[in-house]
Amino acid sequence: MSERRGFFKELLGWGAAAAWAAPVVGAASPAAAQTPSPSSAPGKSAPGRKLGVALVGLGSLSEHQIAPALFQKTKLCKLAGLVSGHPDKAMQWAKRYGVPEKNVYSYQTFDQIKNNPDIDIVYVVLPNSMHAEYTIRAAKAGKHVLCEKPMAISVKECDQMIAACKAAGRKLAIGYRLHFEPNNLELARLAREKTLGAVKVIEASAGFPIDDPTQWRLDKKLSGGGSLMDIGIYALQAARYISGEEPTSVSAQMSITDPVKFKPGVDESVLFTLKFPSGIVANCASSYGTGLNRFRASAQRGWFEVQPALNYEGIKGRMRSEGGTPKDFDFPPVDHFAAEMDDFADCILNGKQTRVPGEEGRRDVRIMAAIYESAASGKRVAL
Ligand code: NAD
Repeated sequence: MSERRGFFKELLGWGAAAAWAAPVVGAASPAAAQTPSPSSAPGKSAPGRKLGVALVGLGSLSEHQIAPALFQKTKLCKLAGLVSGHPDKAMQWAKRYGVPEKNVYSYQTFDQIKNNPDIDIVYVVLPNSMHAEYTIRAAKAGKHVLCEKPMAISVKECDQMIAACKAAGRKLAIGYRLHFEPNNLELARLAREKTLGAVKVIEASAGFPIDDPTQWRLDKKLSGGGSLMDIGIYALQAARYISGEEPTSVSAQMSITDPVKFKPGVDESVLFTLKFPSGIVANCASSYGTGLNRFRASAQRGWFEVQPALNYEGIKGRMRSEGGTPKDFDFPPVDHFAAEMDDFADCILNGKQTRVPGEEGRRDVRIMAAIYESAASGKRVAL
């Protein structure tokens, strides 16, 4: 296991099993209009049939989180297809997970997936700059698409992805797993219901020290940027789902302490401040230089927070009202990926809108572009 994987294992809690549980609180962000499809077609679902998911990209997230969740925990979908540039690896996975050989594709043969009724959903788990191409190809093949975050590396690509899914009458969701995590959802609920009065200030920080300098995350062509695109997006998301508003302006500063590792266009750390229409301000930090892992909201009569905020397991939330003592939240553990994929399958099977549509991914991509613009110009950017 590489150093980076070792760090992630510790930070994000890979490996240990967590019981699946339904999200405790309702949707935290506005779900924009999707083209509802009357059935899960192309493979119309027989009662009790689990929808088939094909994974595109068999890297660390697929290996350690998504495939195990599909194998052991999901109730409405299952692993049914594999798409990889490494045939040996794909065949090993096929044996391990009982995926028939006919459902194994390369990037070159991927489009033939359109003839495969076993596969209803394509889950794109590739480097960021490849999300648009594979989402569009999957939609053209008639499949629903779940695409990892960040949705893409430009707003134009997001628009093309949304348009392709709409034209094909297929659903598109973005892999925002924390929308299915009860402690994070509780922050949004406490803010929305003004339990401790109106929220005034949000602080959201997400980061980890990146190691291998050769990985795609540090190659702008593949990543579209640096820490912000990869991990800081969680801080941006938290500011948006806690405030329940869209920012009107952003100001940002960027810093690089290791110019050998971080080339132009790939940020090491970014600090950004978002201003929201109600007057809420959010101070956010993103870093590839150090571990950052906390979302906190300060309201008129107290505060509430999650720390750790974005681990795969072990997220802890608490709140404190003025003059009181801190009280821990008490939610059962949830496998974020199983919950996210079952929710998407439920949306497909029952014609519901996903709480994490392409339009939600597009909002973040647009704001991140403004954050980079502000950091480069040293000026506040209106949104
Ligand atoms: P990874 O490097 O472990 O895997 C990437 C996969 O893409 C590999 O299978 C690799 O072979 C394949 N690939 C195809 N073409 C490639 C190319 N030109 N260069 C590099 N790899 C190529 O990455 P990962 O950590 O699995 O991340 C994949 C996606 O998942 C990213 O978009 C990332 O942002 C996202 N992600 C999300 C979470 C989450 O919690 N939701 C966590 C980690 C990663």
